[in-house]
Amino acid sequence: MAANAYDVIVIGGGPAGCGAAIALARRGFRVLLLEKARLPVHKLCGEFLSVEVMALFERLGVAGAVRRAGPHRIDETLVTTADGAAFRSPLPGTGLGLSRRTLDRLLFAHAAAAGADTRDGVTARALTGSLASGFSVTTTAGTFTARLVLGAWGRRGRLDRTLGRRFLAEKTPFVAFKAHFEGLEIPGVVELHAFAGGYCGLSHVEDGRVNVCWITHRDRLREAGGRPEGMIARTFGEHAALARRFGRLRRVTDFCAVAQISFAVKGPMEGDVPMIGDTAGMIAPLCGDGMAMALHSAEMAAAHADAFLRGRADAEAFRRGYPRAWRDAFAGRLRLGRWMHHGYVRPLAASLAVRALAGMPALGRWLIRHTRDAAQT
Ligand SMILES: Cc1cc2nc3c(=O)[nH]c(=O)nc-3n(C[C@H](O)[C@H](O)[C@H](O)COP(=O)(O)OP(=O)(O)OC[C@H]3O[C@@H](n4cnc5c(N)ncnc54)[C@H](O)[C@@H]3O)c2cc1C
Repeated sequence: MAANAYDVIVIGGGPAGCGAAIALARRGFRVLLLEKARLPVHKLCGEFLSVEVMALFERLGVAGAVRRAGPHRIDETLVTTADGAAFRSPLPGTGLGLSRRTLDRLLFAHAAAAGADTRDGVTARALTGSLASGFSVTTTAGTFTARLVLGAWGRRGRLDRTLGRRFLAEKTPFVAFKAHFEGLEIPGVVELHAFAGGYCGLSHVEDGRVNVCWITHRDRLREAGGRPEGMIARTFGEHAALARRFGRLRRVTDFCAVAQISFAVKGPMEGDVPMIGDTAGMIAPLCGDGMAMALHSAEMAAAHADAFLRGRADAEAFRRGYPRAWRDAFAGRLRLGRWMHHGYVRPLAASLAVRALAGMPALGRWLIRHTRDAAQT
C-alpha cells in the first residue's frame, strides 16, 4: 500500500473523530486522523460529560484514563430563571466535569496508541471521491487517499461549503463563549441559569476550576458592546443568582467564542461521506449530551465502516444503513432539544417551564431521559 493510502481518513479530532479512529484502528484498519488545531487547546463547551458517556468510554477502552485525568463528579442539576424560578434534581447517575483541553488530548493520544496515524496541526481543505472509487483528501500537509472518509469536523467548517451542504443556507443567530474561573465552590452540581435571549452553564472541571459557558442571541451580545465582559455585566443585573455566583469568580483562561451555532439536522451522509458528531447535527447545549452523541455516532459509523471495508456490506447498504441507524437514534432527541432551547431563551416560557418542573419532578426526569440514550445507561 502507498505511504499516503489508508483504509479510512477521519477529518476532525474531537470526541467523534477520535472515537471513530480508536474503534477502527483497534479493528486493524489503517486509519489517518486529521486535526487542524495543535493540541492541547481550550475548546468552547460546557465540559459536562453526561451520565451515559462512561459506558461509551468503557467500550472504547478509555474509561480508566478518563478517571485518572481527575474529572469532577457531578450528580445533581440546578436550573434557574431570572425571575427566581428554580428546579433542582438528582441526575440519573454520575456525570463528569472534564475540560476539553484534557479530554480531547487524551482521546487523540489513545487513537495514536490504538495504531491510527494521528496528525494535529493539519487542516483538510478539500475532499473528492465515492465509496465505489475511493477518496482523495487534500490537506495542508499533502494529499492522502482512502477507501472511506468520515466527516467529524464539528459544527461548521470550510468542508461544509466545499460539499455545498444545505444547512449553511439557514442563518442562525446564536453565539457562545466560555472561560475557566477560580474562586467558587459548587461541588457535584451542573447549573443552568436562563436570561432573556440565552443561558449560562456552570460546573466544575478538574483542578477545582469552574467552567462557565454562555449561549446567547447575537443581538444581546451586540447590545452589550460585542464583548463577553459586557455581556456578563449585563446579565448580572437581570439575574440575582448568577450575579451572586459571579461576585466570587476570577477568570484564569482567555475566552473561547464561536458564532452561527446551528441545531439543524445537517444529515448523517453527504454524497458518500458519512458524518458523525456535530457534523451530522448538534443537540442544544442545555441537554448536555453532545459529546455522548458524538461518541455514540462514531461507534455506530465504525460498525458500518467495518462491514463495508471487509466486504460484508456493499456501498448501497452503507449509504442506506448508517443514515437509518443515525436517524433512529438521534432525530427525535435533536428535535426535543431544539424545542427546549427555544423555550428556555424566552423569559416567560422559561419561567413557566421551570416552575412546572419544580412542581412535577417526574416531568424533569422524563425530559432528561428523552434527551438521552437510555441504551447507554
Ligand atoms: C455552548 C455550547 C456548550 C456545550 N456544552 C456541552 C456540554 O456541557 N456537554 C456536552 O456533552 N456537549 C456540549 N456541547 C456540545 C459539544 O461541544 C459537541 O456536541 C461535541 O464537541 C461534538 O464533538 P465532535 O467531535 O462532533 O466535534 P468537535 O468537538 O467540534 O470536534 C471537531 C474537530 O474537528 C476539527 N476540524 C474542523 N475542521 C477541520 C478540518 N478541515 N481539518 C481537520 N480538522 C478539522 C476541529 O478543530 C475540532 O477539533 C456544547 C456545545 C455548545 C455550542
